[in-house]
Amino acid sequence: MHFASDNSGPVHPEVLAALAEANQGYAMAYGADALMNQVRDRIRAIFEAPGAAVYLVATGTAANALALATLSNPWETVFCSAMSHIHEDECNAPEFYSGAKLTLVPGGDKMSADALRRSIQGEETRGVHGPQRGPVSITQVTERGTVYSLAELQALCDVAKEFGLPVHLDGARFTNALVALDCTPAEMTWKAGVDVVSFGGTKNGLMGVEAVIFFDESKAWEFELRRKRGAHLFSKHRYLSAQMAVYLTDDLWLRSARRANANCARLVQGLRAAGAEFLHAPDANIVFASFPRSLHKRLHDAGAVYHLWGAELEGDDADEMLPCRLVCDWSIEAEQIDQFLALF
Ligand SMILES: *Cc1c(COP(=O)(O)O)cnc(C)c1O
Repeated sequence: MHFASDNSGPVHPEVLAALAEANQGYAMAYGADALMNQVRDRIRAIFEAPGAAVYLVATGTAANALALATLSNPWETVFCSAMSHIHEDECNAPEFYSGAKLTLVPGGDKMSADALRRSIQGEETRGVHGPQRGPVSITQVTERGTVYSLAELQALCDVAKEFGLPVHLDGARFTNALVALDCTPAEMTWKAGVDVVSFGGTKNGLMGVEAVIFFDESKAWEFELRRKRGAHLFSKHRYLSAQMAVYLTDDLWLRSARRANANCARLVQGLRAAGAEFLHAPDANIVFASFPRSLHKRLHDAGAVYHLWGAELEGDDADEMLPCRLVCDWSIEAEQIDQFLALF
């Protein structure tokens, strides 16, 4: 009964098999391997973007920080949600790599188009003295487990375009959002107005690979230079390529995300029946819910693993409602969900 994170799950066996298969003889280094050509072609086909530039890095933080550095100048500001991973969970790596600062758009996990417009309007009002407007960064699935509809994404991108600003999408859980919306990768990205995507793989069964996809190739060389200078160009790159190649073969990426989302839906249904309170709409594979401390203790004692959210398990008030986060990864089994729900 493990719901701590989709990072704590295992690597998919098909990925380990692909790594073993890639581990034969020699392959050119630094991304010049044949598997990388395959990955580039496959991503271009999946995204219906024949001219896209595609790169691999090993962490989502590197993908976001290097992508945003490429889209911004040090005197600019990146517009993002106050709950965004780039703000809360990357130890200022985006600021470190870009030299830019972050402007937090007021509101919840999802930015609204109006709030984004007001934030953008609030910058560049002090001439040379103030920060200049820079890229907009959107997270899909959001850090609170909600998913922007295509119309919501389009509205945010439209605001960015009003001001001539580029849009970055943090897609650490890209595929969980894609299958939740049942749309195409193109619709969730460049057709809505997204310029660059951090396309996650690690949380969905890879050992450690994320792609950075530029729909406009003009920034590609700068990204390559930044990746190398930032120490994120892997020499034995074929092992990154092999993971992404198998991920996009036989729908492994889609199968894994569908499974995670379906098990999460099963969990949500059970929690709802048990009267749990939801803090955010559980649109994909993450649930934020509150239930009484006594119940948390029972789950904990039975071996369930998950994070309380800004709350402590120890305390006197057994009835106090404590918020928690429950994440379903690709590997969780329906039986584990049922075992968990049986404790309610
Ligand atoms: C997990 C995650 C990342 C990437 O994190 P790393 O630990 O650097 O791989 C980026 N964005 C979001 C929204 C995430 O949940």
